[in-house]
Amino acid sequence: MSARAITLIPGDGIGPEVAHATARAIAATGASVEFDTVEAGSVALARTGKFLPDEVMESVQRTGVALKGPITTPIGGGFPSVNVALRKHFDLYANFRPVRALPGVETRFSDLNLDMVIFRENTEDLYSGLEHEVVPGVVESLKIITEKASLRIARYAFGWAQREGRKKISVIHKANIMKMSDGLFLRCAQQAAAEHPQIEHEELIVDNTCLQLVMRPETFDILLLENLYGDIVSDLCAGLVGGLGLVPAANLGDSHAIFEAVHGSAPDIAGQNAANPTALMQSAVLMLRHLGERDAAARLEQAILRVYAAGQVRTRDLGGNASTTEFTDAVVAAMEAVPVG
Ligand code: ATP
Repeated sequence: MSARAITLIPGDGIGPEVAHATARAIAATGASVEFDTVEAGSVALARTGKFLPDEVMESVQRTGVALKGPITTPIGGGFPSVNVALRKHFDLYANFRPVRALPGVETRFSDLNLDMVIFRENTEDLYSGLEHEVVPGVVESLKIITEKASLRIARYAFGWAQREGRKKISVIHKANIMKMSDGLFLRCAQQAAAEHPQIEHEELIVDNTCLQLVMRPETFDILLLENLYGDIVSDLCAGLVGGLGLVPAANLGDSHAIFEAVHGSAPDIAGQNAANPTALMQSAVLMLRHLGERDAAARLEQAILRVYAAGQVRTRDLGGNASTTEFTDAVVAAMEAVPVG
């Protein structure tokens, strides 16, 4: 059987380091995959004059699945977000982010064994990129919320919760202020909730959600949010379980999927072999499962858990001094220690 092709976009900042580490870990699982490596963002802009070259789109179109390192989005100008452009182009409407405590990782909430899932709408809201200057000194940024996109992310989240036997979905909003836009999102979530009466459903205002998340994070199971709230609350939730170095993400559409870490390109530690590759490795676990490579996914997941439970090898973000390479060596060794199958 020929190997399954996957698009690999290493990205920039710490992207190439964590992408290389993750590709090594995937190879060690024995999964039958091969990478088609393509560049996007500032690296591609310098080489080809395009921040998102056609070869990236063609590759993802062909393979249907990509593993992507973070790509820096210039602040206040420059080219638009590659991440947002890819999500929109391939209509990857569901951003799925499981936030789980890892064994042996000390946090303020270690005793709670947190296990939450974030569903973030991925295609609209204030990420529509519709901004303009009305008159000098006044700019307008348009928040787009549609019934179609809100209903499909809500149905996706409730459907997933039911299939996975989860208990509760918290729908997050600010409909007391944005009565029309967030009001529409809320009504769509209510419609999906009515279609899944087995799943408990609550509605929480976003600011109160942030308070509850740091006071009583164990009361949350699944969070359903619009795009911007989802972005912000994801970083907060990552902090609850040990930081951005750990939390994976999947951007899912009906025909394509892109797997990436929740974290950005972390320019402050780029090129130092210091980044924690766990987040992208956990994204690779999600990707392998999506590809039907269940054994390979389980091997990689178990290896990561064993390295954390053993407590010997930790990257700097978690108070250790292991390099990206040393952490990857440990994960690969943990896989080799357990026979295949
Ligand atoms: P973006 O806006 O592009 O999503 P961000 O504002 O969330 O980015 P990051 O680039 O993710 O910012 O980095 C935030 C902080 O977290 C930085 O100090 C960075 O060093 C740290 N960080 C992020 N990812 C990792 C990682 N994989 N390993 C270690 N530290 C990380």
